[in-house]
Amino acid sequence: MTTMHGVFLPGDFTAVLREVEVPTPGPGQLLVRVGASGICGSDLSYIYRGHKTHAGQEGAAYKGVVAGHEPSGQVVEAGPGCRRFGVGDRVIVYHIAGCGRCSNCRRGYMISCSDPDRRSAYGWQRDGGHAEYILVEESTAVPLPDELSYVDGALIACGFGTAYEGLLRTGAGGRDDLLVVGLGPVGLAAAMIARGLGAARVLGVERSPERAAHARSLGLFDEVLIAGDEVAEAVDEATAGRGCSVTMDCSGSAAGRAVAIRGAAEWGRVSLMGEGGRLETEVSDLLLHRQLTLYASWVTSLQSMEELAHRLVRWGASPERLVTDVLPLEKADEAYRLADSGRTGKVCLVP
Ligand SMILES: [Zn+2]
Ligand SMILES: [Zn+2]
Repeated sequence: MTTMHGVFLPGDFTAVLREVEVPTPGPGQLLVRVGASGICGSDLSYIYRGHKTHAGQEGAAYKGVVAGHEPSGQVVEAGPGCRRFGVGDRVIVYHIAGCGRCSNCRRGYMISCSDPDRRSAYGWQRDGGHAEYILVEESTAVPLPDELSYVDGALIACGFGTAYEGLLRTGAGGRDDLLVVGLGPVGLAAAMIARGLGAARVLGVERSPERAAHARSLGLFDEVLIAGDEVAEAVDEATAGRGCSVTMDCSGSAAGRAVAIRGAAEWGRVSLMGEGGRLETEVSDLLLHRQLTLYASWVTSLQSMEELAHRLVRWGASPERLVTDVLPLEKADEAYRLADSGRTGKVCLVP
């Protein structure tokens, strides 16, 4: 077999299947048979609905490659010089390959690689996971424990990793109550991980009634509040006027960030993870006088991703529970339409 199907996103609200060559691994590279490949909010915002950069500038981050930056699968061939992984190993693919030499890469944060000529993200600048096979740099492979499914692995590859990092920055644990704003896949992941970390109470805020209902059905939240004019009062009521010691914005909207800040307790920690848009806030009464700390994080490190996979096993947590729709590669167009409707949980493609 020398060809396979790959999904491309022309930027006009379609996902197109094309026949492409099955790649051959070079030195330090693995050929991975894809087990599952997630569809991400960033795929929708910056590729599917029109090619853009993350900062909203002219140009496109997507270079017309096979889409999908959330793959997991099994190694079927290892190129010369691979030392950590071999045929048969199950892996999660960390979604950016960096230069491997700059300080961020050496810290495991290839997402923040400082060498623009060598940094390339799967599904953006190099072929991604929406295909039967993907060519993976061995340095970006993370072991997928046997207890977890490929769909679990696909979720860890982006959304769960991002949520974990956002929580780690705040040091959230058993002494904390948590407010999660925006209950898309990252917000739901944050709630599941916070439960594992022992958070005393987890509250959610969501604008879409369908997403709020889905969140409630998962049993991860003590309470799910609907975003709107009264939401600040609803948070006060749910927390006896104190707010939550940790709040997270996973909505990426100015309104959502305002709820996360307003909903924080005195001395609270506010974690910003949602991409795009602006942060607008009054400073004195809301931030300074209440002694708040603001954290901003982008994705996670290779090490934290590996640690998270093991912790999820220990907690008996199943990321796959957040997936509402799994579709075959051939139905990529339908899968993207579903994900773009904003009414689903996580949507995944399987070959
Ligand atoms: Zn993603
Ligand atoms: Zn680098």
